Amino acid sequence: MFNIENITRKNIFRLIPYSSAREEFKGEANIWLDANENPYETEINRYPDPYQSELKKEISKLKMLELNQIFIGNGSDEAIDLLFRAFCEPGIDKSYIFPPTYGMYEVSANINNVETVKINLKNDFDLPSCSDIFKKIDSKGLLFICSPNNPTGNIYSLETIAAIASSFKGLVVVDEAYIDFSNSESAISLLDKEPNIVVLQTMSKAYGVAGLRLGMAFANKQIIEILNKIKPPYNVNSLSQAEGLKTLKNRSKVLEQISQLNSEKAILFDELTKMSSVMRVYPSEANFLLVEFKDSDKEFTTLQTKGIIIRNRTSQIKNCLRITVGSPEQNNILINAIKEI
Ligand SMILES: *Cc1c(COP(=O)(O)O)cnc(C)c1O
Repeated sequence: MFNIENITRKNIFRLIPYSSAREEFKGEANIWLDANENPYETEINRYPDPYQSELKKEISKLKMLELNQIFIGNGSDEAIDLLFRAFCEPGIDKSYIFPPTYGMYEVSANINNVETVKINLKNDFDLPSCSDIFKKIDSKGLLFICSPNNPTGNIYSLETIAAIASSFKGLVVVDEAYIDFSNSESAISLLDKEPNIVVLQTMSKAYGVAGLRLGMAFANKQIIEILNKIKPPYNVNSLSQAEGLKTLKNRSKVLEQISQLNSEKAILFDELTKMSSVMRVYPSEANFLLVEFKDSDKEFTTLQTKGIIIRNRTSQIKNCLRITVGSPEQNNILINAIKEI
């Protein structure tokens, strides 16, 4: 049985949060002299809405979730850090990750003095079997599943994720930063049955507004309440809330770009696969390709001298570089540059 008290740090469960001026009075008023702001009105002289209600209303329609199932952070990286602070007792609870994967989980764990247990993906980058996974698990805490996975690009089945969640005593965090590029269903559909799942999404990748720093966590309302309790009161600034709302209301442009990037990805995949310097291109449900080269260091540094920056992942996966899908022009330049090498 899911019990929020069992998974929340004691001090956080007991915490009485800071109550900001904008929280204590929510009605209509003309004269605001409660927050020591500068009274001369501009777009930004007032503190932002601490709970981003306009933005959440739009997200709730889009994701078919209740408002109280949505948390918005200063990027999903903020949500990751808050999850550690709320749900991992340092030195006792652990964090479980499936390398090669997104590096921030372990950094955030280290910042919070939480041990990370690494359970390697199989050679084909699929998750190990449930029994192999649970052989390594001996605590509660956070278990991260990045799907589609960065940097490998593959996605995990919802059945597997649900099976892991139903046996794990802590929270399963499903990081869906790249889900908008995939045709697969989001783990949001698991939230009703598996109350210990938190789904992370972001506006930094497909939505084209990385500069706004808007990340989302979706979960049952008790988890969201705890995140709200410990977040900095004004964690999402007014300009980001306003621009984020505009972006969501004008989604047709984003959807067009996603389909364009997916066709570009297919072209890039074919071109790279044909090259003699390329050993292998991994299929990808995201907006990047993981490519194994014969001599990845040479490719990486030569591209760099030509002003083309890609991501070196050889420390995680032998001879592999990660290439973000760019515009048709950028991809052409990249392909020609690799051919020249
Ligand atoms: C880029 C990325 C994020 C970061 O998202 P922000 O919302 O920009 O903080 C999170 N998870 C994964 C797997 C990513 O690749």
